[in-house]
Amino acid sequence: MILPGQTLGILGGGQLGRMLAQAAQSLGFRVHVFEPAGPCPAGAVANKEVNASYEDTAALTAFARECDAVTYEFENIPSAPLAAIAPLVPLYPRAEVLHITQNRQREKAWLRAQGIPHARYAEALDGDIAPAVADVGLPCVVKTADFGYDGKGQMKLANAADLERAVATFRGRRCVVERWVEFACEVSVIVARSTTGEARAFPVAENIHTHHILDFSIVPARIAPATARAAETLALAIAEKLGVVGLIAVEMFVTGDGEVLVNELAPRPHNSGHWSMDGCETSQFEQHVRAVCGLPLGGVAVREPSVMVNILGDAWFQPGGRPDAGDRRREPNWSAILAAPRAKLHLYGKAEPRRARKMGHFTVRDATVAAALARATELKAQL
Ligand code: AMP
Repeated sequence: MILPGQTLGILGGGQLGRMLAQAAQSLGFRVHVFEPAGPCPAGAVANKEVNASYEDTAALTAFARECDAVTYEFENIPSAPLAAIAPLVPLYPRAEVLHITQNRQREKAWLRAQGIPHARYAEALDGDIAPAVADVGLPCVVKTADFGYDGKGQMKLANAADLERAVATFRGRRCVVERWVEFACEVSVIVARSTTGEARAFPVAENIHTHHILDFSIVPARIAPATARAAETLALAIAEKLGVVGLIAVEMFVTGDGEVLVNELAPRPHNSGHWSMDGCETSQFEQHVRAVCGLPLGGVAVREPSVMVNILGDAWFQPGGRPDAGDRRREPNWSAILAAPRAKLHLYGKAEPRRARKMGHFTVRDATVAAALARATELKAQL
């Protein structure tokens, strides 16, 4: 067990690291943050911030030596430096988990090998997607193997003209081609698994994306209880099979007939779990700290139906405004959220609002999902 007073290291200094640091400090831990980009949201609330490249093994080693456990908020960290620090300090989730989830091809192959339901796909290894598209059929979506996030590095193909464009765009790149799923909704389940093997799944969140970026997370998800149980069971099985220590977020599609297909795994706190800070007995961030420190996991009961809304940099500009064209910036209307009952505002301390940049989120709780969603939608419009 790693106990309060000891030091938790976090690789990556964005908002996930920041909320993780805050949760760890609430439990009495010291927090060190490692972030290549310079002063960062997590560093601003940490006991110590180190700014150096992930490739800088000497800096990473020195960082690890000062920590009692190291975890991360960002999974695209090169594996060689991680291998260098793994013998020095408990590092969670393990490098093998990172290796699988860092790359779509490896992740899909792992899902297939484990018999976990997922959308039909084919690999395009030699830089030509046409044979894989022929295999999977149209409509489909091409995704680069190395992770883009928030829909970056993806293209939907519906017809021959799309295919022609995509062949040129993705030439020479490793990709997976996935059958397009006409889903009824998207959901995610975040599972915490501790060093002791204790595991708990947070309740299923229903996720609504706009332009590939998470817009709303709704809990409880508006799906049949049997579908929710199936999603939780799948996520728990994935955490167990991967031997995850810490959190793993499992994103899934739910089809019209209630089938659950796994889309993507992320071995860290996840945007779709932010509702838990206000709507759940234990937040995902506190749960992650408990899991990597070998402490008993906290309860995951929903305190009240909750809707989380992301606040993007776009909110600083008039609707339809063009920040890139120098349109005037204004402060969003925080008062509307702050004055609303059972609403909570979380801002990440980022100085520069940019289009599509995650600046913060808010959560609205209410007696029913419908009421929380209606109020959240209204507050978003008032921002
Ligand atoms: P991903 O980066 O794989 O999480 O994809 C981002 C978003 O694109 C997903 O959350 C879906 O909304 C959409 N998407 C990705 N793959 C598919 C698919 N095979 N069928 C339908 N929609 C998809």
